[in-house]
Amino acid sequence: MKLDSYWLDTLPRVDGLSTEDVEGRADVVVVGGGLTGLSAALALCRLGANVVVFEAGRMIGEASGRNGGQCNTGLLQDYLEATKQYGEDAAQGFYRTFSAAVDSVERVVREERIDCDFARVGKLKVAAKPEHFDKLSQTFEVLRSSVDPGVKLFSRSELRDEIGSDIFHGGLLQPGSASLHVGRFGVGLAAASIKRGARLFEATPVTGIAREADGRFRVTTHRGSISAKHVLTATGCTMQGGPFGWIRRRIVPVGSFIIVTEPLGKEAIKGLVPSRRNYVTTMNIGNYFRPTSDDRLLFGGRARFAMSSKRSDVKSGEILAGMLAQVFPQLRNVKVDYCWGGMVDMTRDRFPRAGERHGIHYSMGYSGHGVQMAVHMGQAMADTINGRPERNPWGGLPWPAIPGHFGPPWFLPFVGAYYRVKDHLT
Ligand SMILES: Cc1cc2nc3c(=O)[nH]c(=O)nc-3n(C[C@H](O)[C@H](O)[C@H](O)COP(=O)(O)OP(=O)(O)OC[C@H]3O[C@@H](n4cnc5c(N)ncnc54)[C@H](O)[C@@H]3O)c2cc1C
Repeated sequence: MKLDSYWLDTLPRVDGLSTEDVEGRADVVVVGGGLTGLSAALALCRLGANVVVFEAGRMIGEASGRNGGQCNTGLLQDYLEATKQYGEDAAQGFYRTFSAAVDSVERVVREERIDCDFARVGKLKVAAKPEHFDKLSQTFEVLRSSVDPGVKLFSRSELRDEIGSDIFHGGLLQPGSASLHVGRFGVGLAAASIKRGARLFEATPVTGIAREADGRFRVTTHRGSISAKHVLTATGCTMQGGPFGWIRRRIVPVGSFIIVTEPLGKEAIKGLVPSRRNYVTTMNIGNYFRPTSDDRLLFGGRARFAMSSKRSDVKSGEILAGMLAQVFPQLRNVKVDYCWGGMVDMTRDRFPRAGERHGIHYSMGYSGHGVQMAVHMGQAMADTINGRPERNPWGGLPWPAIPGHFGPPWFLPFVGAYYRVKDHLT
């Protein structure tokens, strides 16, 4: 079993990375080579900007290359709760923004001809308890009559054509959702940016950002420093150092873990997930799964409320293998080829945050819906930097610090215990 991301293990190399000393000037420096940073770099190049990207590790090496590869429409939050909390207009606006984000991914895949198996397979949310199906039915009615007329509802018996498991009580399909190979997609964004003149540096953490007398920024790395007119912080929830203490007090890194089986063959996958969709369960501490193009099953979840590390990932992988066997008993003895973890960039209300502080732009906090939103926001922040701040849909949301949170989230085990009890009771 490889303790590595399947996506990162099966992608082509990024050609044309910069290796020279860091010096001179740029229009925009992007800090972070995940999907936010690479999408922004490409969009800025298309606007004619001179762009430099600094990545502390490897391009898309963190959350962007370690996720479930689901590019979903819809909110992470329960839609009915969101309408109660924010009002119908706002909830519809949030929902439409996530749909637009999937469109943004599709558009860039098409325009840049990125070979990444992008397909609108739909997301099927499956009810883990009978009362969860009642709630899905209510959500279905509201979505169908307002923001997503294409949604479909499957009763427990209809679900048999959709999934080779007996444990679920029905499901809600959001057909606009897509799946893709996030690794190949990320490399495609990087290659398209390099082709348009962006300079991309790996293993180059940003250690300082200072405003200079002429209003420009001096961005410092161990390979030298550069003067930039604009800076975009696209650092996700990573715990890398650097001058980002303000962000670390607002983002909570939450571990999520994934296993990928050995290739199962087309017929076996047909028996498990005939429509090859994205699947998520309704539990708070639930699971997500999908097939890969080489007919493996990717199965993930918040197996434990822990940070990701090699040891932690193995422990979580064992728990996930048990969960996989509960959903698909026919896979009880299947071989697991990959097991890894990553940190999800959560905000308190699970909505993204993007804006500008002391002249430095930032976008992050996609809370598990980042594959599409990171790409969308990279483009929106490029437009913002280009003088169109109205393109940032999250600009109006306040972002207070989380009390008591200064770095590693000591409170996660308590949050985990809370959700376990909640899952038991509801
Ligand atoms: C296990 C897991 C499963 C997930 N599943 C899904 C899913 O199926 N669908 C979905 O929509 N979302 C999912 N997500 C969330 C999604 O992957 C993220 O929201 C998204 O990738 C965030 O992209 P980003 O570019 O903002 O951040 P990241 O991908 O974290 O990139 C930030 C980069 O900044 C770099 N960096 C940090 N500090 C510095 C510094 N000082 N100098 C230079 N570089 C720096 C980091 O090294 C990192 O590469 C999942 C996440 C995880 C971890």
